[in-house]
Amino acid sequence: MGRVAYVNGRFVRHADAAVHIEDRGFQLADGVYEVWAVFGGRMADAPGHFARLKRSLGELRIPMPMTEAALSIVLRETLRRNRIVDGMVYLQVNRGVAPRDHAFPTPAVPPSVVMTAKSVDLAASEARAAKGVGVVTVAENRWGRCDIKTVGLLPNVLAKQTAREAGAVEAWFVDDLGLVTEGASSNAWIVDREGRLRTRDTQANILRGVTRATLLGLIAETGLAFEERPFTVEEARQSREAFITGAGSLVLPVVRIDSAPVGDGVPGPVAKRLRELYISEARRTAV
Ligand code: PLP
Repeated sequence: MGRVAYVNGRFVRHADAAVHIEDRGFQLADGVYEVWAVFGGRMADAPGHFARLKRSLGELRIPMPMTEAALSIVLRETLRRNRIVDGMVYLQVNRGVAPRDHAFPTPAVPPSVVMTAKSVDLAASEARAAKGVGVVTVAENRWGRCDIKTVGLLPNVLAKQTAREAGAVEAWFVDDLGLVTEGASSNAWIVDREGRLRTRDTQANILRGVTRATLLGLIAETGLAFEERPFTVEEARQSREAFITGAGSLVLPVVRIDSAPVGDGVPGPVAKRLRELYISEARRTAV
């Protein structure tokens, strides 16, 4: 059996998987998503991602399409049917299918649910982390509710493309004050000149990264100095180390910002250690 996807109650061949043209996710980006890293066929940081899913849906007044337990069963079945050992599993929930109209459909329609899974080559991911990656900076131009994980990702798409065309892997959004908000699909961190770990606080208009939250817990155990405080691009350039976190990047050292090296221009000891710590914790607690 080849790749399969889950679409509204059925497993179908990935090549045939489709939603209706009047699905509000397709027409209006009226939906949310979650991505779990997968280790050994099991989902990393599962409770944190489910909690954020419920929050995102709640903020948009979209009902949970099924219970967390049921979603978890279907997600794991998606992994099983695709024979994923290490990889990622994706869930999207849209408001549903209705004649196109900006306001919510009345009466409400059932939410649409899509799940896909893919394998990740862990050796390639480790090789990339060992070399470190570049980021480019772009002006923050997103809406005011980046705490909701919506599928409305056009600014993120354009930022990522800017990164790719510059030979970088991620783009960092920078606000009007010159402060880095976050990456197009990751949270941004530095180890500043004083050796303190820093990442922006989640009162700001950023996504509350689940990887970020798990890492904060691990950092507290290590006793490393840490502050939830934003940093400027200049501070990041002058920092000892920089890195990004996310379900896709895990903990990934950043060695270049807009083509200027960070620190020695190679992955630093703190980022390397935190990557190891995060991956072993994610493996240990995966379900
Ligand atoms: N920030 C943005 C904009 C993201 O899209 C993501 C993940 O996709 C993250 C941060 C990292 O979040 P998480 O660690 O929950 O994957």
